[in-house]
Amino acid sequence: MSLSGIQIFKMMPKKNCAECGVPTCLAFAMNLAAGKAELAQCPYVSEEAKEKLASASAPPIRTVQIGVGDSVAKAGGETVLFRHEKTFNNPTALGCLIATSEDDASVDGKLKAFKALRYDRVGLTLKPDLIAVKDGGDPARFAGIAKKSSDAGAALVLMSDNLDALEAALAEVGKNKPLVYAATEANLDAVSALCKEFDCPIVVKGANVGGVAKMSTKLMEAGHKDIVLDSGSRSTAELLRDNIMIRRLALEKLYRPLGFPTIVFPCEMADNPVDEAIVAGTFISKYGGIAILSDLRGELLFPLLLQRLNIFTDPQRPMTTEQGIYPINNPGADAPVLITSNFSLTYFIVSGEVEASRVPSWLMVLNTDGLSVLTAWAAGKFVADLIAPFMKKSGIEDKTKTRKLIIPGAAAIISGDLEEELQGWQVAIGPREGAHIPAYLRQNYA
Ligand code: SF4
Repeated sequence: MSLSGIQIFKMMPKKNCAECGVPTCLAFAMNLAAGKAELAQCPYVSEEAKEKLASASAPPIRTVQIGVGDSVAKAGGETVLFRHEKTFNNPTALGCLIATSEDDASVDGKLKAFKALRYDRVGLTLKPDLIAVKDGGDPARFAGIAKKSSDAGAALVLMSDNLDALEAALAEVGKNKPLVYAATEANLDAVSALCKEFDCPIVVKGANVGGVAKMSTKLMEAGHKDIVLDSGSRSTAELLRDNIMIRRLALEKLYRPLGFPTIVFPCEMADNPVDEAIVAGTFISKYGGIAILSDLRGELLFPLLLQRLNIFTDPQRPMTTEQGIYPINNPGADAPVLITSNFSLTYFIVSGEVEASRVPSWLMVLNTDGLSVLTAWAAGKFVADLIAPFMKKSGIEDKTKTRKLIIPGAAAIISGDLEEELQGWQVAIGPREGAHIPAYLRQNYA
């Protein structure tokens, strides 16, 4: 049962030292009760209080892990309703459905797509996470496809209403902690026992949100911790309503039976791939923990992965690239040297344009705390005083004989200072726009 802020406050150290980020223990207790703080932020809580507060300080939506090792998908762990309040934590895990009724060519094609569809963007690899294997009345094939999918590196969802089929598949891949779909009114105890035996996360599927809450309560009483919710709705409007209701009750009322991630099935909610992708996009935004697609097609998956990236990026922390020297197009000792900031978007635009020029180059990336060039200059982070020592310490002088540094046109104002600070180097002013880099490099250095 959750505790009120006042109940929590009674167990606080009452030092009012503000080390937790708020001025008083009372304010911290209120935040803790509202799920907006974590107990670990106070270094002075007694062990006795920690035990008592464990349930009150647990995240309002549990993080559920599916899979093991490198093949892991995580869902849940969210603490806010809106991304701008703090950040969303675990991106919607995207999966592909494979039914046992599909022929081998289709199964192999989907597994091949699962392994092949990888996109490197802003220093991250965007990819699908899961395969959902659906039993169509053939337990041996169900277990076989589950094994094949697991071998392909996928975290798994095992979907069947046949306990024998689930057991056969779990005997093959149970050690990889697949998500078992689904416990319903009809089979709750039996599926619960199976998931406990194999220590696997479990989906509870109801006819509505109330039904799901009742069953998840029973599962919690039976000792299950890793639960995923399916409200049973398969129309976009109803599922959207259910997901919002679940998220609000979990976060605002700390209603534990709904404090779990949800699974949604765009594959069952549209009759063509484009509509299905639109449905999936809706639930990446509102509040699908796991979304299962009927197929993996690059032209539809990629926009979903990008949408997911945008929504689950921390809005308060710019994405950054590591400071350092980046060789592009196999540069040698005569290759030109360019410099830019470590805002990921800037880096990827500049590096992409340098690569497109086909001119072998060294790209220096300065740590500007994720600010773009002009903003960094205005904030005093892309200035001669910082660039010169970075260049000297970076080791670039051992890699190239070139002593001409191309700075972004947007930072032309620093060229004089930089030439003074960076002894032995000439400063050249490059283009203002990334799109003009290829022509500039080809004209001057090809
Ligand atoms: S760090 Fe702990 S003791 Fe200090 S104000 Fe916060 S809750 Fe109170």
